[in-house]
Amino acid sequence: MKIRDILAGDKPTLSFEVFPPKTEDAYHTVAAAAAEIAGLKPSFMSVTYGAGGGTSDYTVDIASTIQEKYNVTPLAHITCVSSTREKVEQVLGELRAHKIENVLALRGDIPEDGRTPEVYHYASELIREIKKSGDFCIGAACYPEGHVESANKSVDMDYLKEKVEAGCDFATTQMFFDNSILYSYLYRIREKGITVPVIAGIMPVTNAKQIKRITQMSGTYLPSRFMSIVDKFGDNPRAMKQAGIAYATDQIIDLIANGVKGIHVYSMNKPDVAMKIKENLSDILEWE
Ligand code: FAD
Repeated sequence: MKIRDILAGDKPTLSFEVFPPKTEDAYHTVAAAAAEIAGLKPSFMSVTYGAGGGTSDYTVDIASTIQEKYNVTPLAHITCVSSTREKVEQVLGELRAHKIENVLALRGDIPEDGRTPEVYHYASELIREIKKSGDFCIGAACYPEGHVESANKSVDMDYLKEKVEAGCDFATTQMFFDNSILYSYLYRIREKGITVPVIAGIMPVTNAKQIKRITQMSGTYLPSRFMSIVDKFGDNPRAMKQAGIAYATDQIIDLIANGVKGIHVYSMNKPDVAMKIKENLSDILEWE
């Protein structure tokens, strides 16, 4: 099923994310985690793409298993980084062969050696190519706080508009920990004429070590209410996990209460975290 049709329903949607293994050794662990998460019957599941290479071949494999064995709609990511024209054609061909209809088109994180993508420089170029090649439902990333490399938020929103004009059907946000940032972003992009559905990306922070990486990669603002939780529980893994899940749940309830219908949880191959969040929302997701 196409994600744009799933998003057009009346009820809120809850989706989860898995990332493929970096090496063959880890394949079975990741496949088992993906199966458990699929067993929770989310609205759809996204499978990331290792822009640095290595893991990219597993994306189609895991996405097709989710669909064929567990009957959950997959969203396969693909990046400009490490993609030649032939590679994109090959991946799209494999997706089509497995009847996977949804693709999240990204530039990808620039690898540490600083090599920028050679063929497709920005996600919008990749979206244009995918649009030409068939009837995929295409998603893109968006950044309520602006992308770390962009000069300012307004320019970044103009580039989101370019992605929509290139053919993207919906956008999923980078994680954020203060919902008011999303609300003002939604207002501003709608003012710019961007009308595609925006799915809110929520990261349950379940250990204190994640925080450093999050702020380095995305520059996300961490509200004091959130930092108090990390200060208090950061050294106690079980308490931190419980508090992180509660914080994420609280964010999601506020989002749904304020009319945001698409919720995507960066579940990071953690079925227990996905399960707790789903349980916490069970009646809320059914209501509307
Ligand atoms: P783009 O939209 O191409 O933007 C990149 C930068 O260039 C931005 O600063 C933008 O403002 C600027 N820009 C855009 N268009 C133009 C233009 N025409 N001219 C000049 N500047 C321009 N990474 C992975 O490697 N694999 C994944 O599976 C993955 N999944 C993700 C899922 C989500 C929901 C999100 C939010 C991010 C994901 N990422 C993933 C990370 C993402 O690849 C990085 O954030 C990357 O740095 C930007 O990707 P993008 O598609 O937003 O890039």
